[in-house]
Amino acid sequence: DRVDNPYSGAKVYVNPEWSANAAAEPGGDRIADQPTGVWLDRIAAINGANGKMGLRAHLDAALEQKGSDEMVVQLVIYNLPGRDCAALASNGELKADEIDKYKTDYIDPIAAILADPKYAGLRIVTTVEIDSLPNLVTNTGSRETATPQCDTMLANGNYIKGVGYALNKLGDVPNVYNYVDAGHHGWIGWDSNFAPSAEMFKKAATAEGATVDDVHGFIANTANYSALKEENFKITDTVGGKSVRESKWVDWNLYTDELSFSQALREELVSIGFNSGIGMLIDTSRNGWGGADRPTGPGATTDVDTYVDGGRYDRRLNPGNWCNQSGAGLGERPQASPEPGIDAYVWMKPPGESDGASKEIDNEEGKGFDRMCDPTYEGNARNGYNMSGALGDAPISGHWFSAQFQELMKNAYPAL
Ligand code: BGC
Repeated sequence: DRVDNPYSGAKVYVNPEWSANAAAEPGGDRIADQPTGVWLDRIAAINGANGKMGLRAHLDAALEQKGSDEMVVQLVIYNLPGRDCAALASNGELKADEIDKYKTDYIDPIAAILADPKYAGLRIVTTVEIDSLPNLVTNTGSRETATPQCDTMLANGNYIKGVGYALNKLGDVPNVYNYVDAGHHGWIGWDSNFAPSAEMFKKAATAEGATVDDVHGFIANTANYSALKEENFKITDTVGGKSVRESKWVDWNLYTDELSFSQALREELVSIGFNSGIGMLIDTSRNGWGGADRPTGPGATTDVDTYVDGGRYDRRLNPGNWCNQSGAGLGERPQASPEPGIDAYVWMKPPGESDGASKEIDNEEGKGFDRMCDPTYEGNARNGYNMSGALGDAPISGHWFSAQFQELMKNAYPAL
């Protein structure tokens, strides 16, 4: 039987490969023993791509780390057909119509390994398909932010089918805990996206034989940079008679940070039929925004913009910026049950792994070059036509980016 919160009273698996990368960096030993997500980002990752550990190798290592304690293993299911439809940096190996291959060559083999009785004593957390379903809401149809690739994935239904199939098959394994990706507040926190995204999650969670019982919870902010708590201003504050919602930064969003967003989204999801016991995970790997530039109090009350901009921890140029953000720091260390409704703060995106290359780099992973990773790019509708805010000299997504790792440590909050 599943427990209510798999993280409660459990250790969490430390990926030896990430740990070795971290430990090899000057100062990296301060965090090299932290648990991070294991990304199954292509079919070959199941058996181990390019000499890396495969799924069984990770689970075997997890059993060793477990000893007689409880142990959570965090897997990221990330290989949908037409992956990353609103960007190019994490395009994957499967074409938009390759849903059958996704099922038989990707999900089925993963489910078969997880169902091995040898692993029955592990609590296996699967975070399902990062950055997929919200794209169907915000980046389709007549919206200015639409892309032809996302329109295709909405029309062919393969994101919905893929997520439904994954939840159903993985959910058949009694010690698997499925958490569906839920974007972040700077993406689906607007009223035009919030309830529609929840409905989209419900649609996927009831497709291809899945039911809401296959969903243990949701994960917010995966691989993103949205601050956990903005303490220097509240959504209900006003300055000179204007709501902070009218500031350029908040721009009518209903939420200012990931904690308030995650808790509200949980309520919304329960209200539309998900189980009342669902819990949220928040990826705090890179949303610390500490360091010398972190504001120590509210901004000046000259107007809503000085107030919000002077006080906000998240120092991005726009909350739509997502690639290798300059100035970011490690966030809260992974921990169980930090706040009501939150099962854990997790480091699902392994700090130090790139979000995308800052220029075109040939590769065999299907990864494209997205200009949001180019520091000279002047933006598009999805980031309000701001500069990308990305660090330069980045390798392709998933590859080790030493300079970013160093900056994340330098700007950690809490500080290291
Ligand atoms: C990449 C994956 C990688 C993951 C974790 C994603 O952006 O596309 O290949 O495994 O990040 O770093």
